[in-house]
Amino acid sequence: MTEKKEKFYLTTPIYYTNGLPHIGHTYTTIVADVIRRYKRMRGYDVVMTTGTDEHGVNVERAAKKAGVAESEFVAKMADAWRALWDELGIPADEFVRTTDLKHVRTVQWLFRQCKENGYVYKGNYTGLYCIYDNAFVNEPKPGNLCPDCDRPLETVTEENYFFKLSAFQRPLLDFYRKNPDFIQPETRKNEIVSFVEGGLKDLSITRTTIRWGIPVPGEEPHVFYVWFDALTAYLSAVGGPEYEKRGYWPADLHLVGKDIIRFHTVYWPAFLMAAMLPVPKQVWAHGWFLMDAAKMSKSKGNVVLPRPIVNMLGMDALRYFLLREVVFGQDGNFSYDALVTRYNSDLANGLGNLASRTAALIEKNFDGKIPKPGARQPQDEALAKEAQAAIGEVLENYDKLSFARALETIWSVIGAADKYLTSEQPWALGNSEDEQARKGTILWTTAELLRIVTALAYPVLPDSASKVWLLLGQAVGVGKCELDGLRWGQLAPGTALSKAQTLFPRVEKTEAIERIEAMANEELNPTPAVPAPAATPASAGGAAAAAVPAASEKIGIEDFAKVEMRVGQIKTAERIVGADKLLKLTVDIGTEIRQICAGIAQYYTPESLIGRKVAVVVNLAPRKLRGVESNGMIVAASVGPEGRPVLAGFHEEVEVGARLK
Ligand SMILES: [Zn+2]
Repeated sequence: MTEKKEKFYLTTPIYYTNGLPHIGHTYTTIVADVIRRYKRMRGYDVVMTTGTDEHGVNVERAAKKAGVAESEFVAKMADAWRALWDELGIPADEFVRTTDLKHVRTVQWLFRQCKENGYVYKGNYTGLYCIYDNAFVNEPKPGNLCPDCDRPLETVTEENYFFKLSAFQRPLLDFYRKNPDFIQPETRKNEIVSFVEGGLKDLSITRTTIRWGIPVPGEEPHVFYVWFDALTAYLSAVGGPEYEKRGYWPADLHLVGKDIIRFHTVYWPAFLMAAMLPVPKQVWAHGWFLMDAAKMSKSKGNVVLPRPIVNMLGMDALRYFLLREVVFGQDGNFSYDALVTRYNSDLANGLGNLASRTAALIEKNFDGKIPKPGARQPQDEALAKEAQAAIGEVLENYDKLSFARALETIWSVIGAADKYLTSEQPWALGNSEDEQARKGTILWTTAELLRIVTALAYPVLPDSASKVWLLLGQAVGVGKCELDGLRWGQLAPGTALSKAQTLFPRVEKTEAIERIEAMANEELNPTPAVPAPAATPASAGGAAAAAVPAASEKIGIEDFAKVEMRVGQIKTAERIVGADKLLKLTVDIGTEIRQICAGIAQYYTPESLIGRKVAVVVNLAPRKLRGVESNGMIVAASVGPEGRPVLAGFHEEVEVGARLK
């Protein structure tokens, strides 16, 4: 294959590293990943860039507060951001840090180009300045006070480099007119056009009062200021000055939050025009997720974190909800109630149920092999037509980034298949030749529909679509399926199904929300490890490992006496959705029945534990594990390099509640 694929380059913003990602950042990165997967299924060679914006006075301050060097602080932050994207299955193809050498070189090169072309000059910048924080303040508090430290501000003038933004009013307006799709959605475009029509002021692009930044070559102590540095990261990620070699520039799509659209559609194209470089093809501004109609922020305490949701419901559930609930480009409301409702209705009862129902019927009636369809009746034709029509509609909506519409179409086809099965009732048909043939037609039709919706849903639901695809016995991964070749009728009879897996176990709403909130609370306010003098909690969580570390300090009997251990008997044991290592146990400790979580699920089945007598630390402060309250600790030895838990027990009859001494 020597055929050269068309390239597609898209980016998320380069996120600022003075904090950690919440659902807003996660949303943009998920959208970028959906587009990437979709474009790959359409045959494009796609690169997606994300990264971290690591310079500036806020990072200087945060590092100082943490008592570490800036470089160390941002390295840790960048690692944390990258690790989260990896964990969530949305890693960048290019992760660019603004402290990367290749980025530093690109910014300095871009500056030289702009300067040589006459768009950069030295001038004076005057503003309100906080001497204590070493920073200019754009929005002072009433009475000219510093918004950060409340100290009085002073008017300070410093020498800066300026970018001649004013020279680009005409070129920008011409560019918008010739490229009507450059700014999306349309409402944002009008806003930007009238802003530029109102006139553009030159822009200060360097500072001498900030230390932590990219130096302007030969002009120390000048460092580049915010946008000239951060925006350029999109270019440094794909080759910088040598961008032509890799062939991904200009970017096809910058995804941004609506608050930063001006910088991306005014400053950024102007910098590039000044350097005579190609300008990106499109900038798409999305809205915000609001929590109870308020913008999320850490200080308001209404910030939603991705991890707890993913632990409870899976990443696909989060992806589906974010893209289905809100029209891309508009603001949307985030609520756990709506999230869990959608999960149960659309995923567990919708796609999940259709897949397991179809697989079970084929298993039972056709020995787990896709049947051969017989003569088609009008209702079979109608369903086929609906699914075939959905392909075109869904692709069109993905192209327009109308994700909610695309998913609506897919789910309406799933709904039609449910109705079809319910009215055709293949389970009520007998074993005569005619009835068997009819069953074959119905089940082939349902399975073929399932194959098509699975391929269409893959960009949004990569994990579960891959499972359904495998279930349908499809050899090549669903992500490799070419959407342009997807048609009704391609499912080969005789294909063996693989073993069905539960896609979306139903959850009880109140309990699910409580657990998500508890996990979020744990992540936002981590409790210091509970001191456990006699037993170290196993790293798997919950079970206490009785192994004494080598060279441990000796303790007096009075210390040991602080730990109250009793004989307990396990009454019930169950797995916990979203926590594969934990079992939820109820344990009789003589005086009461306790709920205790133990990290033993990988080594003990729930059934094997019922009635078993164990050693329980009963006076441990209650804590939550994966959102489930645990009131005590089961003692176990930690064996081997993996720390396999082996429950401590008794070889003679012991009374429940007896104290261990
Ligand atoms: Zn201050």
